[in-house]
Amino acid sequence: MGDKPAVPVQNNSSGLTIYLRLLGYIRVYWLIFIASVLGMWTFSAMEIAFVDLMGYLINVLTVITGETVEGLHIDVGSLDEGLTAKVAKWLVTGGDPLSQSRVVIPIMILIIAVIRGLGFVAGNYGMSYISQSVVDRLRNQVFAKYTRMPTAYFDSQMSGHLVSQLTFHVQQVMGATTDALKVLIREGSLVIGLLIYLFYLNWQLALIFFAVMPVIALIVTVVSKRFRRLSKRIQSAMGDVTQVAHEAVSGFREMRLFGGESYEIRRMETASKHNRQQTLKLSLTEGISTPVVQLLVAAAISTLIWMAMVPDILGTMSTGGFTKFLLTAGLLAKPLRQLTQTNAVIQRGIAAATVLFDTMDSEEELDDGRLEPETVRGHFVFDNVRFRYGSKLEPALQDISFSVEPGKTIALVGSSGSGKSTLISLIPRFYRHEGRILLDGAEINDYRLQNLRRHIALVSQQVTLFNDTVYNNIAYGELSKKSPEQVREAARTANALDFIEALDQGFDTLIGDDGVMLSGGQRQRLAIARAMLKDAPVLILDEATSALDTESERHIQAALEQIMKGRTTFVIAHRLSTVENADRILVLEKGRLVEQGSHGELLAIKGRYAQLHSKQFATETG
Ligand code: ADP
Ligand code: MG
Repeated sequence: MGDKPAVPVQNNSSGLTIYLRLLGYIRVYWLIFIASVLGMWTFSAMEIAFVDLMGYLINVLTVITGETVEGLHIDVGSLDEGLTAKVAKWLVTGGDPLSQSRVVIPIMILIIAVIRGLGFVAGNYGMSYISQSVVDRLRNQVFAKYTRMPTAYFDSQMSGHLVSQLTFHVQQVMGATTDALKVLIREGSLVIGLLIYLFYLNWQLALIFFAVMPVIALIVTVVSKRFRRLSKRIQSAMGDVTQVAHEAVSGFREMRLFGGESYEIRRMETASKHNRQQTLKLSLTEGISTPVVQLLVAAAISTLIWMAMVPDILGTMSTGGFTKFLLTAGLLAKPLRQLTQTNAVIQRGIAAATVLFDTMDSEEELDDGRLEPETVRGHFVFDNVRFRYGSKLEPALQDISFSVEPGKTIALVGSSGSGKSTLISLIPRFYRHEGRILLDGAEINDYRLQNLRRHIALVSQQVTLFNDTVYNNIAYGELSKKSPEQVREAARTANALDFIEALDQGFDTLIGDDGVMLSGGQRQRLAIARAMLKDAPVLILDEATSALDTESERHIQAALEQIMKGRTTFVIAHRLSTVENADRILVLEKGRLVEQGSHGELLAIKGRYAQLHSKQFATETG
């Protein structure tokens, strides 16, 4: 099996499939969605009704002024044009048209405004509600996915990019689902409504508009592709910005001490410049495409006017009718502009969603084992175990075969880089090994992952602490079920109680980001307390006491020996004196097991172990 490189699945699906998948998230909120779309349609309909009413108003005015100036009779026929006219006529119940219209038209304007406002509120809030919920779900899903990713995934990704997915990418998707969707539906339906209305008013003239539509569609398609390409680069640049910031912030001591300021500033400038350049390119594309579309619309309107002024056509329409037609055509410009502008936002969202979906689709930690024993004895057999990191050609481990009786202690020694940490990281299945590792006679891959890890406590080289209280750092995760007495006892055994009680608020002290308030030795003692509290049958100590001074190490050593009793323990220690009492010592060299035996046996064969031992003995005494 080995270690599969965690290259994300290449998502070749088109923008549309991605957008549809994004919209698939909306399904849950279909009721709100429908209400919101209805709201937007109401808004659009009222917009058109307003135009219609204006046309009616002009007709009324021309008829009335026509009568007063030229003494003509009211042409009732031209007052019948349009939808609002019908409503108005129904409201105007005979009598003097001027005084009646004076009341009816303003009231209708107000009513239209109120309905339009209600539609706007429903449409806007509904869409915001949906998109916020979508983004919320998306973010939580990606985060939850991170918790299930294999170790190799984290090895291959930059943490800055992973963080940026939860912040920047999600934000971009929000743009596509909130504003863009709103504009898409509101302005899109307005455009459709206006076009239908144009057809209704004069279908021959309306055809002119349809002639430019394919050209607009073509422009939008070409521009969309470019938007998406640029957006991908912007998002990646933002990942770089996060990465550099993170490294400089967490490594600020090294930066200051080694004079890395200008190097870091340059790195940030490069990342930021890349971001700026791509964003500017995007703006330029957006800036050009929008006026071009507007120009096309203007050309259509010009043609329209030119055509409409042909006497034959002019004669078939009333002044109000013609005004309505032109107003409607003019109204098309704004939503069309907004739609083309929004396209940039949509494409950004799609580019971001592609990355998020890639993450969601990438392979999780394999967990197909079914064994779930309540507890294990801790009998291990390594049978021809091999392992190679995905990024490396050389195997990190090969031909590793040994076995451990339950409750025994195995020490791993070897020069740095010989594969000790790699070997022990195979036990909790942080990586997939080749060959066989048996725990109590069953392949560790056959255990359920969660179950396997429940049997193992680990204190590693790098102690990770959380920005929480001392108490919660010891009783972390599933350990929070332990009683306060147990937590205290674990801290005492780990020789940590003294320093914890000396803290301002004892166990309730907040230890800051990754435990900045603590010394290396204190951090390590908290990690040991955590492992002790876990009380698991298998214990792994990877340089667990490396940050301790000789004095506290001696204290802890006693405690560790106490806790190692009855547990299968794997110890890696930089000081060979601490491994002398192990039941068996394995000597690793370049990923191979070169010697194994007890301290006495290994000294007797005068091999690699004896060599390491005499070297260290010389440095420690001399
Ligand atoms: P040790 O703990 O004995 O010092 P490790 O097990 O950490 O050694 O490393 C063994 C080898 O594997 C080294 O050559 C190291 O460079 C390599 N290695 C360790 N971790 C990784 C990783 N995450 N990705 C790629 N190579 C790694
Ligand atoms: Mg190591």
